[in-house]
Amino acid sequence: MACIFCEVAAGEIPATVVKRGDGMLAFRDINPQAPTHLLVIPVEHVASLNDTSDPQLIGRLMLFARELAREVGIADQGYRVVVNTNPDGGQTVFHLHLHVLGGRPMTWPPG
Ligand code: AMP
Ligand code: ZN
Repeated sequence: MACIFCEVAAGEIPATVVKRGDGMLAFRDINPQAPTHLLVIPVEHVASLNDTSDPQLIGRLMLFARELAREVGIADQGYRVVVNTNPDGGQTVFHLHLHVLGGRPMTWPPG
């Protein structure tokens, strides 16, 4: 299997899984950029945000991230959801994922 996040979803490479269900998986980013830095992926392989037009999938991903933020205790203080897309967006892993970042104030604009 060539896709590392498909391998994470299949349990073939280790990850710290925080939440799963509804065809989604959330796990800790290996190189965290904030005190809380989680990734949310669909279990089904989708390469990037450009590669699905399924409003159910996109909606479920976003709601999963929102619920995750609540469960890990960053919802009230605040958090950021990021979807890097393709090279100019900074995407390095080509399996659609949402970054959920929190635990510190975020700055704007992003780099
Ligand atoms: P992006 O640059 O938006 O494609 O984000 C990919 C993210 O995946 C980066 O923040 C990496 O630190 C993270 N990452 C890469 N490999 C792994 C892994 N095996 N487990 C957890 N996070 C990973
Ligand atoms: Zn994949």
